[in-house]
Amino acid sequence: MSDWRDEVEALTLKGQIKMPYTWSVGETGSRFLVALRDEQKILANRCPLCGTVYVPPRKNCGTCFADIGTDDWLEVGPEGVVTAFTIIHQAHPLQPLATPFAYAIIQLDGADVGFVHILKDGWDRLKNGVRVRAKFGIERNGRILDIDGFEILT
Ligand SMILES: [Zn+2]
Repeated sequence: MSDWRDEVEALTLKGQIKMPYTWSVGETGSRFLVALRDEQKILANRCPLCGTVYVPPRKNCGTCFADIGTDDWLEVGPEGVVTAFTIIHQAHPLQPLATPFAYAIIQLDGADVGFVHILKDGWDRLKNGVRVRAKFGIERNGRILDIDGFEILT
């Protein structure tokens, strides 16, 4: 029996799909998202071994791989500092918003890692080091966009 690949070059095509999906965010993700939805609080958790404060919270430490557990949760933010950003001008069906908007990595007060979220305006003042504050949406559904975005503080 011959293999067709012995006779024909096997090619691949790159593509993109948009597919609805549902997945469990688990205990750690649920605690984080419920606090956003019900209390307008941004929760983090602290690794019991190395002390790293994660937001969003993690089940395991990315630095020392310890099980973080549920004992040491704390509120961080709602203010922080932009450490990196990119302004999105090209519309795409998978983007969460109409363009333009910015993705930013925000070092929330009290956290040790960057938190990725969006800014909807203020491009003339947006730069690394600028302070921002979370602005919660009026209607919240237990998802990351319950924070409507971050606004630049003057
Ligand atoms: Zn750790």
